[in-house]
Amino acid sequence: MTITESVTLMLALLYGASQLWWAGKRYGAVAAAVSLLIALAISASPVLLAGTLLAIAGLALLQWRKPALAKGDVRINELRAACQHFIALALLIVAVQYTINSLMLKAGMTPVVSRPNVVDAFLPIAGAIEVKGIVSLGLWDQTHPAAAIMLGIVLLTGILCKRAFCGWACPIGLAGEQLYRLRKRFVKEELMPPRWLDWPLRMLKYLLLAAFIYLVVGMPAMGIPNYLQGSYHKIADLKMALFFLTPGLITLCCFALIMMIASWRRQGFCRYLCPYGAILGLLSFLSPLKIRRNHSACLLSKGMKCDKCTRACPANIIVHTKTTVRSDECQACMRCVAACPKKEALGFALPGNHAVSARSLMLGVLTIMFFLPLIAWLLGYWDSQTPDAVRMQLLQMIDHVGH
Ligand code: SF4
Ligand code: SF4
Repeated sequence: MTITESVTLMLALLYGASQLWWAGKRYGAVAAAVSLLIALAISASPVLLAGTLLAIAGLALLQWRKPALAKGDVRINELRAACQHFIALALLIVAVQYTINSLMLKAGMTPVVSRPNVVDAFLPIAGAIEVKGIVSLGLWDQTHPAAAIMLGIVLLTGILCKRAFCGWACPIGLAGEQLYRLRKRFVKEELMPPRWLDWPLRMLKYLLLAAFIYLVVGMPAMGIPNYLQGSYHKIADLKMALFFLTPGLITLCCFALIMMIASWRRQGFCRYLCPYGAILGLLSFLSPLKIRRNHSACLLSKGMKCDKCTRACPANIIVHTKTTVRSDECQACMRCVAACPKKEALGFALPGNHAVSARSLMLGVLTIMFFLPLIAWLLGYWDSQTPDAVRMQLLQMIDHVGH
């Protein structure tokens, strides 16, 4: 684990522990802090210790500059934005570290910074093949183990808390939102497709998902060991990076189309094209947590007119007439809850209307996304075992390395 990964991880986990403390869950906070101490002791890793100290300093700075945010004592939308920006910033730093590492390898130099393994999160197909290898052959990949871990983690968020990953963590969703806002500065109107077109467009992401599943399921199990030990897999991340950094004409046209869709319609990319959004949408039907409306507390039951929740929803879900929002497009963003004037009327809740707060949802997402990688790392299933020398050698002939 690199220093940036350690700082990010410990910052998220310590922030989570401090949130438990501020929320009055003192036992939970102590249990979380003790678990982290145990992790530190087990690993005996100077990098994790340095990451912890830096994270403590970062939290102290946050407490000094933004005490309300440090205590999680802010509005739902601010808390969600802070969570999204934290993850986006962490990934940006990781991207810089990864770029330095790759450029030095390409130049034939020993990298001054290690490759952050979390970049394997951008290899979902490799991750799915690894999962297939584990399930069908009991074979654990040593080249990009974090790919399978991160894929499992994202899918787990879908099962437990709907598409909260999309609403609270995904940096691409955040970038799409910024693009949409930028477009709105110049063109004020909402450019919504007609209803008859919206549904087929939404199905596009499921088609893409089906294509990816076909690729993985269609791969014979006996071919998996060869793939995992092959040269292509060893530099699959570099291949992916090269694909984005040196796009051809068709790729550029695809990027332009994606940016156009993201700016044209709010959450356009998530709604129409993202295969992760598709699989999380499907898994979200399993989630016990859903947006639930308590009709007796809702203003509509008092004969008043209100549709604030519906108007706040970026996914255009009609919330104010539903008792439970089951839609695969619901990202658990809780904007509807934030907009509701009656506190008890709407919540992200378990069956029986046992609502969880925005802070608890954020804690859940952070715990899944950061605590599980820590456990994977402690178990030795996070760091790639491919030596830099091998990657350096393969990088010199990357154009000739194929499947
Ligand atoms: S229903 Fe509520 S939580 Fe779901 S996407 Fe709409 S605003 Fe967000
Ligand atoms: S915003 Fe709240 S009070 Fe208004 S319709 Fe929605 S749930 Fe009911």
